[in-house]
Amino acid sequence: MVAEIVSVGTELLMGQVVNTDAQFIAQRLAPLGFQVFYHTTVGDNVKRLTSVVHQAVERSDVVVFTGGLGPTDDDLTKETVAAALGLTVEPIPEEVERLERYFAARGYSFTPNNLKQASFPKSAVILPNEFGTAPGCIMSAEDKTAILLPGPPRELFPMFQNHVMPYLERMSGSKLYTRELRIFGKGESSVTYELKDIIEHQTNPTVAPYVKTGEVTLRVTALCQSEAEGEALALPMIGEIIGRLGDIVYSTVGESLPETCARMLTDDSVTLAVAESCTGGLIASELVAIPGCSKFLLEGCVAYSDEAKARRLGVRQETLEQFGAVSEQCAKEMAEGMRRSSGANYALATTGFAGPDGGTEQDPVGTVYIALACEGSVVVKRIQLHGERARIREIATLHAFDMLRRKLCL
Ligand code: ATP
Ligand code: MG
Repeated sequence: MVAEIVSVGTELLMGQVVNTDAQFIAQRLAPLGFQVFYHTTVGDNVKRLTSVVHQAVERSDVVVFTGGLGPTDDDLTKETVAAALGLTVEPIPEEVERLERYFAARGYSFTPNNLKQASFPKSAVILPNEFGTAPGCIMSAEDKTAILLPGPPRELFPMFQNHVMPYLERMSGSKLYTRELRIFGKGESSVTYELKDIIEHQTNPTVAPYVKTGEVTLRVTALCQSEAEGEALALPMIGEIIGRLGDIVYSTVGESLPETCARMLTDDSVTLAVAESCTGGLIASELVAIPGCSKFLLEGCVAYSDEAKARRLGVRQETLEQFGAVSEQCAKEMAEGMRRSSGANYALATTGFAGPDGGTEQDPVGTVYIALACEGSVVVKRIQLHGERARIREIATLHAFDMLRRKLCL
């Protein structure tokens, strides 16, 4: 079956917003067996959108539209697509009621332009929006299907995953079983080199690499008839990949490094405290973003000045004078001091030169020392990073989590 994506929005045309919706949708259509031949971006303009709709339904079986479902006058996708398909929109009583309840619960007044968001062709399938007010919908006319989704990615992504995917799976007669392998410790080129034959000769499941700051993700996708069949297809491939890459694969279920650490700390019923200099609270912040972190996170301290490192964490004056604040010895004492004063089972500490200034000949900008203290031992790792300040801080944070997860694996 042929599918295409039409993104509606003048801000996309002007380059003010990157079209992440189209990327997200296309990545999911192709593995389901839909052939995606066209992506179109068109402004918020009835005449031009109408002509795009006619062209799209002419050449594709399924057209996915993004954007322009909101309550304002420039939101005209639904009305325009319906008209082009020969359908009329009208207020749907259950939707009007739902929207009225939504507004009442928040103390907002319900204005006539909101009625627009409760209006659909009678025959349309309405897709609930769990993260906004504009529902999506699926309109069918003859043998053509138009799927209309809201523009904001935080609304579109879950709507697509929860409501559109099952619909498309029924249409294509197949399901997708997906597993996300997360990798820390090797770059994309080296990962894809080691998996070159797999990536080139894949059929089912497929293996696709993605890069994020400091990390590589491999998405393993199996086309199948059931969850069990998908798992049976994907697991041998996952086993093969882990066999080649080893323990740099830290998750096979799409967990991030902080999430992996959080789960392990929770499972082991142990606690953590962090003392951060160059990461400046990033480690603590990543953990606090995870619900339930109070089970294991005791405290965090941003000890930036030498004086604070000494007073708050008990780093010795001699250490600071002899080795400096960016040193193996200082990192070690920071972690030990934090562990001692917090009473946590584990303490992580970071100190480094995030740049752009600073650094020494031995320890240039990008040098970071990370220490991990636990009962009876403290280990320190020196890493040499490159790039700008924000990147150095982010990647140092990932290294700290990786050190912790490796320790917790033992
Ligand atoms: P709303 O109810 O918020 O108005 P909407 O469905 O009418 O939603 P638009 O008005 O087209 O959507 O876009 C709202 C915002 O969503 C845009 O300003 C932009 O930030 C984001 N957005 C829209 N389309 C895309 C897209 N294709 N990719 C990524 N972001 C998008
Ligand atoms: Mg809008």
